[in-house]
Amino acid sequence: MRVTFTPIHRRDKSASGTIVVLQDVTEQEKLEQSRREFVANVSHELRTPLTTIKSYAEALEDGALQEKELGERFVGVIRNEVERMIRLVTDLLHLSRLDSSQAPLRRQETDIAEMLEEVADRFSFQLRQKSIHAEVQIAEEITPAWLDRDQIDQVLDNLVSNAIKYTMDGGSIELSAIMTDAGSISISVKDTGIGIPKKDLSRIFDRFYRVDKARSRNMGGTGLGLSIAREIIKAHGGTITLDSEWNEGTIVTFTLPTLQERGTAE
Ligand code: ADP
Repeated sequence: MRVTFTPIHRRDKSASGTIVVLQDVTEQEKLEQSRREFVANVSHELRTPLTTIKSYAEALEDGALQEKELGERFVGVIRNEVERMIRLVTDLLHLSRLDSSQAPLRRQETDIAEMLEEVADRFSFQLRQKSIHAEVQIAEEITPAWLDRDQIDQVLDNLVSNAIKYTMDGGSIELSAIMTDAGSISISVKDTGIGIPKKDLSRIFDRFYRVDKARSRNMGGTGLGLSIAREIIKAHGGTITLDSEWNEGTIVTFTLPTLQERGTAE
C-alpha cells in the first residue's frame, strides 16, 4: 500500500486540509518483481551454456584439438550446449507469443483416441530405450474435441517427455481420456516415476521452476515445459493440474472443450 499526503492551503496560505491517497501497489509490485525474476532467470539460463561453450572452445584452442578423441568429446559438449540454447530460445519465443496472444488458435475437430495413440507412437523409440510400458485408455463416451492440434501436441509432447525423463527404466506411463461431469474432456498423463516433493507442487508451473536444476539441465530440460503447457490449455479455456507423490509417480490432468462446447469456447 502506498500512501501520499498532499496538504491543501487557503489563499492566505493557512492550511485547510490534506488529501490522502491510498494506492494498492501490491499487484503492480508483484508483477514487476516477477518480470525482474524472469529476466534474471533468462540471463542466467543463457549464460550457463555460453560459459561452458567458451571454456570448451578455449580448451580446444589450447591443444585438445590435437588429440582426436578428446577433441571430438569437447566438440560434442559444445554441440549439446548449443542445442539446449536453441531449445531454450524456441521455448521463450513460444511463451512470448502465447503471452501477447499472437498465436491465435487454429482449432479443428479432433479425435482424442487417435491423437493419444499418435503421441505414444512418437515416443515409441524413447519408451523402448528405457523399457517403459505405455498404455492408452480411452473412455467409451469420449466425443471429438475442438482444439488446435499443433498446440495440444506440444502440450502432450512436453508431458510425455517429462514422464519418460523422470521415470526409471522398467516403469510405466498411462495416457487416458474421460468425460468430466461438466461435459468437457479430461486427459491425463500418469507415470510411475520419481515424483515431486509436496513442498514444490505449488510452484511447479512457474517459469524455470525445477525440483532439481542440475538433473533437469542434464536431461536437456529448459524448465519451461509446464508453463508453456499451462498457457496453451488456458488459451483453450481449460485447466491443468499436477498431482504427485515423491518416489511414487506423477499425474498431470488437463481439460479441453468438446465439439459441442465450441460455441462457448470461442
Ligand atoms: P523441465 O524442462 O525441467 O522438464 P518442466 O517445466 O517441464 O521443465 O518441468 C518443471 C520441473 O517439474 C522439472 O524440472 C521436474 O523437476 C518436475 N517435473 C515435471 N514433470 C515431472 C514428472 N513427470 N515427474 C517428476 N518430476 C517432474
